[in-house]
Amino acid sequence: MQSGRNACASLESLKHGSLMLRWRWGVLLVGLLAACQPTAMPDVRETRLMLGTVVVFTIADMPEDKALAAIKQAAEAMQAVEAAFTTHGDIHNTVKALNQAKAGQAVRLAPEVDALLQQAVAYQRQTQGAFDPTLGALNRKWGFSGDVLPSKPLSQAEVRQALAQSGVSSIHRIKPLVWVKDKAKLQLDFGAIAKGFAIDKGVETLRKMGVRDGIINAGGDMRILGRHGRKPWRIAIQHPRKDAPLGWLEVQGDSSMVTSGDYERFFMYQGVRYHHIIDPKTGFPSRKTMSVTVQAPTATQADALSTALFVLGDKQGLALVETLPKVEALWVSSDGVVHMSRGMQTQFHAL
Ligand code: FAD
Ligand code: MG
Repeated sequence: MQSGRNACASLESLKHGSLMLRWRWGVLLVGLLAACQPTAMPDVRETRLMLGTVVVFTIADMPEDKALAAIKQAAEAMQAVEAAFTTHGDIHNTVKALNQAKAGQAVRLAPEVDALLQQAVAYQRQTQGAFDPTLGALNRKWGFSGDVLPSKPLSQAEVRQALAQSGVSSIHRIKPLVWVKDKAKLQLDFGAIAKGFAIDKGVETLRKMGVRDGIINAGGDMRILGRHGRKPWRIAIQHPRKDAPLGWLEVQGDSSMVTSGDYERFFMYQGVRYHHIIDPKTGFPSRKTMSVTVQAPTATQADALSTALFVLGDKQGLALVETLPKVEALWVSSDGVVHMSRGMQTQFHAL
């Protein structure tokens, strides 16, 4: 855990700061820029490792003791989400119970798991299947969430076999909280949505503790509260192929910014990049995008959509984004070209 005051940072120091936070799972943080702006009190910043990533809490304009107490509570709320949703480690939870259940066996989920699974199924439908919370068997086979990255891609046969274990049409909510699967080997995986949900729970706690201005940044997934002094927060978007920001935008009020990229967990094999965002139609890493950044009202929505819009690519993705209220997106497509939704174009400053 790191903590302390950070009164003011420039774009340059942000860049080096986020590089310093790069860690053994290869997560490169999308930069958070607290520009040098006058605030009544210096920022309070604290870093924790959880949810398989580095989580940075930044609170502005609050006495240090109050800010640290709020961060402590928010971190505990986020750890509770991790415990409820993780499929890693020895902790028992209801996600693992459903994953281990036999076909047709009724499993009672924790209320927050039941609620997020319903949302996840709705996102699967909204994104024409690009976001799929039932890909767990295939994701595990690819092995991007382990401590050691794989070095060789799966074969077509291996992918076909694991893909056959997935599908939201094979899970059913038979009554409140209670779900069954049709396929014993179907595995839920909340890796593309639970980090956002944890951030939302953390922000809810910060608010209850009186925080008006602050940011929770979990490995590039952020929710932004209020302002930084008299100005909006300035958020940098990571370039997917350079150790530098692609650009920045100013954000204030309550908004979330989440990035999914092919540069976080990947390996190269015979000149081809294999990464952790899987196209549910093919079972292989999606090929249309290098990174996508989504702005949305909640981190849960932005997280689910960032993964889906990565898979859909800019053309199909833009058509979807333009139908969603208060959602904006920026893609760096696989040819390195930047594409933006209309609302993003008015906010984004390229560097
Ligand atoms: P996102 O794009 O948001 O999500 C990608 C992840 O979602 C993939 O890793 C895969 O798990 C899944 N996925 C891939 N394709 C799709 C798709 N089309 N639709 C839906 N889902 C898809 N990492 C560790 O290394 N160790 C841990 O102990 C650990 N614990 C975690 C506990 C929790 C509760 C969560 C939420 C994450 C944890 N992680 C852990 C990280 C996790 O394994 C993922 O790597 C991470 O969530 C990916 O997030 P992202 O923002 O990089 O990408
Ligand atoms: Mg996501």
